[in-house]
Amino acid sequence: MNKKKHIDGYLEVTHKCNQNCAFCSFPPKNDGMSFKELKEKVMRFKEKNVSEIVLTGGEPTINPDLPKLIKLISDQGLPSRLITNGVKLADKCFVKKLIDSGLGRVALSFHTHKKDISEKLSGVPGNFEKYILAMENMTELKLWFDINTTITSLNLPYLPDTVKFIAANFPKTAFISFNFVDAVGNSKNNFAIVPKISSAEYHLTKIFHACKNCGIEFHIERVPLCYMHYFETRSSEAHKFINDEFILISRKEKDFNPVRHKPGAKINGYTKSEPCKICLLNDICAGLPEDYAEMYGTGELYPRFKSIQSVLAQETNRKFVKENQQWQKSQTENTLL
Ligand code: SF4
Repeated sequence: MNKKKHIDGYLEVTHKCNQNCAFCSFPPKNDGMSFKELKEKVMRFKEKNVSEIVLTGGEPTINPDLPKLIKLISDQGLPSRLITNGVKLADKCFVKKLIDSGLGRVALSFHTHKKDISEKLSGVPGNFEKYILAMENMTELKLWFDINTTITSLNLPYLPDTVKFIAANFPKTAFISFNFVDAVGNSKNNFAIVPKISSAEYHLTKIFHACKNCGIEFHIERVPLCYMHYFETRSSEAHKFINDEFILISRKEKDFNPVRHKPGAKINGYTKSEPCKICLLNDICAGLPEDYAEMYGTGELYPRFKSIQSVLAQETNRKFVKENQQWQKSQTENTLL
């Protein structure tokens, strides 16, 4: 029997934002969709059988219709996920309202546990405490949340400690999505914030070990597999290729732009170069983001001579080890009862 394919439907709820992040790739605009337009998009997502609607922006919590929109999605029998900077979730009543409207889960941006760096990145003094409050509120109200972390030159060396901070203070956190900073929008005028991928490799490996030691699952987006030795399947793009994933993006101006990660396919916004032609991982690697290549060129790419089969075997082995550890833990807990 064929397993039903998971399709995420991305809905841009607003283009406005309450922060001014130093790395923002879509600097805020004063337009967006009316509730009527958003409702039409939700209905079309439903017709297209999406598995989940992902509410994104700008900052979606800025839209006063958000609770109504979540309720509408929930009434259609669809789960929703909110991607947010977390500022408004510092208000417990607001979190409760979203939960009561039917919100399923949250992906909260948390880029560092260091307050000074956090303020430099968000452009708003005082917001660091709000992110912490947001996580405390969601923990207390039992709203499931994952973390989104943008990798920049400022926070990169401290990210392994950020992982430990999250694990120590919010132990229910199960997943962190690391996104290598876009080299467009605000970063384009501030290119020192975009680290060279080759110089980030050491820190990426340390992040991998920190997550592993803390029992947190993670993905890293926008890093080619040349720089993800031993954790290739944690590449967000490779994961999508391996699972032949499909997403739909709905914007005001461009409706239902499909992105399919069919193994070997070219992905919009990514580029490859000569070494990719002889690379054994070519079919499951998206390559280098075009905006990064425009900034720094493609000279850092080099071919990998590890087979896709051994990458997949490594993943199977990892799952087996994890299941075995969970089983052993449950046996120990049962013995102690
Ligand atoms: S050489 Fe190209 S295909 Fe191979 S890992 Fe690097 S970017 Fe990916």
